[in-house]
Amino acid sequence: MTEESHIRLVLPGPVEVRREILEAQTAWMIGHRQPAFAQLYAQMQTKLQQTFLTEGKVFVVASSGTGFWEGASRNCIRDDRKALHLVSGAFSERWAKISQANGKQIDVIELDWGQGFSAEMVADALKKDRYDALCVVHNETSTGVLNPIQAIGEVVAEYDETLYLVDTVSGYLGAELRVDDWQVDLALTSSQKAFALPPGLAACTINEAVLERAKQIEHRGYYFDFLNLDKYHGRDNTPSTPPISLMVAADKQLDDILTEGLEGRWARHEQMRQITAEWVEEQELGFYAEAGYRSPTITAVANTRGVDVPAMADFMLNEKHFAIDKGYGKIKGDTFRIAHMGDMTIETLQEVLAGLSDFLGKG
Ligand SMILES: *Cc1c(COP(=O)(O)O)cnc(C)c1O
Repeated sequence: MTEESHIRLVLPGPVEVRREILEAQTAWMIGHRQPAFAQLYAQMQTKLQQTFLTEGKVFVVASSGTGFWEGASRNCIRDDRKALHLVSGAFSERWAKISQANGKQIDVIELDWGQGFSAEMVADALKKDRYDALCVVHNETSTGVLNPIQAIGEVVAEYDETLYLVDTVSGYLGAELRVDDWQVDLALTSSQKAFALPPGLAACTINEAVLERAKQIEHRGYYFDFLNLDKYHGRDNTPSTPPISLMVAADKQLDDILTEGLEGRWARHEQMRQITAEWVEEQELGFYAEAGYRSPTITAVANTRGVDVPAMADFMLNEKHFAIDKGYGKIKGDTFRIAHMGDMTIETLQEVLAGLSDFLGKG
């Protein structure tokens, strides 16, 4: 049961975390150079591989997802080559900036916010130039767009020197993702989105092609040097102090996720997408994301009715004890986002939508 004062998060990160998972963090501390830690690392590793559907390695560090953006760009793009970034929203835009901030050369395919990329667009670009990496955001959290990772992967796979780098921060564990089958070379995520953990842990799958590339790059940075991470990974450990308590919670969360089943979890998110879409239509509101690309973890609602979004958020907070999102960046107010990710139940989503309906007077 939730306490009277508890505000439930309906935000696209950090998301609501279940009590049992919060409590798992209170286990007694262990040292990361003790055997108990190596055991924790190893058992978590197997579960991470099962959930990313990869036989590759999954690095785990104390960081938010942004850290692995930097790591991916630094370790995968050679100094005299370029990366191609697919940009259509706040997060894909930021990753492109991060590549540049690390001195990397980039080209960009830019679409209007709310649009998704097609394999054809990528195929055209890869025919014209050579790239060390193709960087794409699986689930663009700012706009509610889910990009076709599998189809794009088929195109990228035709180019040996082009690594396929995927940000799945708000996709992983909410939207279907099959790292190996979809020919993804690197997939990065963080703990506070559909993983439904507190913030502070980031994970990144890599394959041998990524490590081979990293060997050709001199300045890989230090904290996210993949070769150093790999060295410690071989000992079921991390170069610097990991977020131990959070890893204990993550290990339990992974057990619960595998009990629900990956496909069951994807199906629940898909159901939440549908329920939310029906509500949007009933309310005569719009969708910001183009049809065919709408995310199972977040719906960006186009505010076609001129709803006073800050007033609605206040109502939800004070009357319903839900914290809701008011839109992101330049589309704040013109849109608001309903996050339906993580361990959210169908019942909770229905409560959220009923609360919004109360405010909008169409309940
Ligand atoms: C939240 C988010 C990020 C940034 O992740 P942090 O963990 O906040 O650093 C990156 N990409 C996407 C798609 C996100 O939703």
